[in-house]
Amino acid sequence: MALIVQKFGGTSVGNAERIRDVAEHVGRTREAGNDVVVVVSAMGKFTDDLIRMADEVSPTRPPRELDMLLTAGERISMALVCMALSARGVESASFTGSQAGIITDTDHTRAKILEIRPDRIREAIDAGLVPVVAGFQGVSTEKDITTLGRGGSDVTAVALAAALKADVCEIYTDVKGVYSADPRVVPKARQLAVVSFDEMMEMAATGSRVLMLRSVEFARRHGVPLHVRSSFTWEPGTWIVEEDPTMEQAVVLAITDDASEAKITVGGVPDRPGVAAQLFRELADRGINVDMIVQNTGTNGLTDISFTVAMTDLDVAREACDEVKVEIGAAMVTTDDNIGRVSVVGAGMKSSPGVTALMFETLFENGINIEMISTSSIRISCVLRADRVADAVRHLHTAFGLDAASS
Ligand code: ADP
Ligand code: ASP
Ligand code: MG
Repeated sequence: MALIVQKFGGTSVGNAERIRDVAEHVGRTREAGNDVVVVVSAMGKFTDDLIRMADEVSPTRPPRELDMLLTAGERISMALVCMALSARGVESASFTGSQAGIITDTDHTRAKILEIRPDRIREAIDAGLVPVVAGFQGVSTEKDITTLGRGGSDVTAVALAAALKADVCEIYTDVKGVYSADPRVVPKARQLAVVSFDEMMEMAATGSRVLMLRSVEFARRHGVPLHVRSSFTWEPGTWIVEEDPTMEQAVVLAITDDASEAKITVGGVPDRPGVAAQLFRELADRGINVDMIVQNTGTNGLTDISFTVAMTDLDVAREACDEVKVEIGAAMVTTDDNIGRVSVVGAGMKSSPGVTALMFETLFENGINIEMISTSSIRISCVLRADRVADAVRHLHTAFGLDAASS
């Protein structure tokens, strides 16, 4: 008998009919002789609606209260799924993140899981029930309710799968699996049968929101097999697995796009040791993740430093930069939220020259200007004007021979 964790995203539990379909599938999985633990997201775009409601009453949105509000979305889904399971003749019980033993740090709105104590979930399984757990939430070491960051139900599912030593963690969503590009941007994107953890991490880090980055990191660290699949067709989808050295690697596997970052430039910075350290220490102390960084060659003892941060961190990052600007005697701080990023990902590019050249040529031939560049051993990213990103993804998808034969 296998233990399967099944996570259902927002669209998969978006209305009563979808919830009944989910209950039917969970019932079928049980009848096939498996134990099942369900993790649910909030229905449809309910989390966005709750954030809008918070905005309407308060520009300050105290993080503790925001977390308390947002966790309501997943609580609604878990109770409704249990009711639908009951109608299907499957006994179940719902659990909040706190009841499921998901202990986090105190960093509200983007808390990290420190520990899982899944005793109640184990007991429920042993009693023959299907535990249905609210995704995206936990309880902090200070006993406050926390959320794990947008898309965080994926992390809940993987973390529970790891703690329960599940045989597989199935991520059910509104596409058939992981594609060679976001199928909503590139109609000719191809569904991938297998993706390595390394590649999936780069894809998730550069905008492919089909899996939240931290869930992929967690799955890799704990050896949890991940299976991304559709809650509409219920067919097998894409497996995320450890790289198999005997497998031939695609030079380029996927093109990703990301519109969630903004650029900050600190201009007229004195070109002396320690200045960058001071700037990035200040940002780090405020919990801000910095992504791409470019420092221009100095002229007349002055230089410019540009970097990208999540759009949601822009205001706090700007404040930090304004403070450091005064301390280091820089000339100005400017921000630009009209950027987007396009990336080319593939484990095979490690041993294939020419990927960078083809990427730059393709962008050039289509009149698309590159503003920043960053690379890893299996990824190349370029920052562009936001309104050129979709175009860039489609052209690169074609240039790297990824288009499906017909569609
Ligand atoms: P869920 O609510 O199920 O968690 P998400 O909206 O978070 O769903 O993630 C699924 C979406 O991810 C898809 O609808 C798709 O538009 C988007 N996506 C982006 N890149 C990819 C990709 N490479 N492959 C598949 N889906 C992708
Ligand atoms: N409901 C949360 C969100 O919209 C978590 C999730 O869907 O994974 O971000
Ligand atoms: Mg998601």
